[in-house]
Amino acid sequence: MDMRLPFSTLPHRPSGQELVRTAGFIDGEWVGADRGARFEVRNPADRTLVAEVPNMGASETRRAIQAAVAAFPRWRAVPPAQRSAVLRRWHELIVERADDLALLLTTEQGKPLPDARAEILQTATFVEWYAEEGKRLGSSTLPVADPTRRGWVVREPVGVCAAITPWNYPASSVAKKLAPALAAGCTVVLKPAEQTPLTALALAALAELAGLPSGVINVVTGDGSAATEIGRALTDDPAVRMMSFTGSGEVGRELMRQCAATVKNLSLELGGHAPFIVFDDADLDLAVECAVKAKFRNSGQMCVAANRFLIHADIYDGFAARLVERVGQLEVGPGVVPGVQLGPLIDELAVAKVARHIDDAVALGARLLAGGKVHARGGTFFEPTILGDVTDAMAIAHEETFGPVAPLMRFRTEQEAIAIANASEYGLASYLFSRDISRILRVTEALETGAVAVNTGSFTTEAAPFGGVKQSGLGREGGTWGLDSFLSVKHVTLGIG
Ligand code: NAP
Repeated sequence: MDMRLPFSTLPHRPSGQELVRTAGFIDGEWVGADRGARFEVRNPADRTLVAEVPNMGASETRRAIQAAVAAFPRWRAVPPAQRSAVLRRWHELIVERADDLALLLTTEQGKPLPDARAEILQTATFVEWYAEEGKRLGSSTLPVADPTRRGWVVREPVGVCAAITPWNYPASSVAKKLAPALAAGCTVVLKPAEQTPLTALALAALAELAGLPSGVINVVTGDGSAATEIGRALTDDPAVRMMSFTGSGEVGRELMRQCAATVKNLSLELGGHAPFIVFDDADLDLAVECAVKAKFRNSGQMCVAANRFLIHADIYDGFAARLVERVGQLEVGPGVVPGVQLGPLIDELAVAKVARHIDDAVALGARLLAGGKVHARGGTFFEPTILGDVTDAMAIAHEETFGPVAPLMRFRTEQEAIAIANASEYGLASYLFSRDISRILRVTEALETGAVAVNTGSFTTEAAPFGGVKQSGLGREGGTWGLDSFLSVKHVTLGIG
């Protein structure tokens, strides 16, 4: 059933090491959809067909859950050091095949090849981190007051986990869930996004090659119309004890409702609307460089993308002029072309949302300082855009744009900046530029976000907890915290007479 379409640019490997998998992965077998249906994966840069992948539904999902249920007692019984060895081998294989994986990722997702490679290496780093972390799942003894009793607490895997991932980080979003789940001793059913199943399948193929036993990871593929059915099968089944979801708030809230029926553990990584605050004492060159990173990386299709640039009124014009100049240097084009910094948006719907935000802002008085329309290359390429004089009344001041648009707003006082920054239903990330340490501390403490980046435009690392407050989600991925969602604690008391 493994239909390998030509993917001529990837070097040929011996059978079993193929990265381009066009079948689902259930109980260690590469399988098609029961009804034989398939859906197309297209390259967002030119809409060419990359591959066709099985369009699965509830029955395949139920079989994947059964496989994960059967594998769970065996996998949890594997000593942590041996689980760690498999994860470490998986890490090594991802690093070895980083170039091939990056090309695959760019082909289905669109981001520039160096960024795709960086994501793959970060993916490997997450796997390596949890290979180590899983070895340190010790128990703790309790200071019990009663001398006739002893007590201790053990951490145990929660059981079968569902993982649902988005298209914007198709490799790292998978590793942030699967690596800690496997390290904890859980088994998983993964449903990757419709647009980017191939990267997830390639990672599963490498996990298989690394020696992961059958049924420990299962991958169910489906298009947008199948997602509801697959999601339902995962949430309805009481055997699934945990749902780890990264994606939109709308779907996250729906899954939360569905999980209530069987009281599942939940980890939700949802949208964001990051403020990027530049005070008048900031290093302006640094702030502009970081603004480019925080806004235009992955063409702005990031949950942590800066979506409101709050600039102190005294430096506003200078910041805007420098950002316009810097953004004018950005190279837009297909991600595989050397030197390209901005790839295409994922699809036409994404272009329509970006255009709506710009039109709405301009209609309500914003000034177009750069870009503003579909790029001359056409398709889903969009000009890097800067909007000046953005106000609270505009949709872009509240809704996630998920595109290359930087909206600039003015503020006068620290309190005003904090109030604007916190006036959002989201609370994922924020950026802050200042050289005044007291101000940095005051503002950092006041910001209602799961992460604050001070004087830098990027902050993700495998060592840190990543996640949001308010409607940006629940739980944390990364670091020691990333294991918590996949573990439950058990208190044991022993009477010693
Ligand atoms: P999405 O529409 O919510 O889709 C995310 C995943 O959920 C996809 O695999 C999708 O499948 C699946 N899905 C859709 N409807 C479902 C349902 N009813 N039941 C079960 N699964 C369902 O989000 P997206 O547009 O792909 O991703 C962008 C969003 O993700 C943004 O809001 C972004 O901020 C957020 N995000 C958050 C983080 C974070 O860590 N906080 C990281 C990255 C992205 P199909 O693709 O088949 O529809």
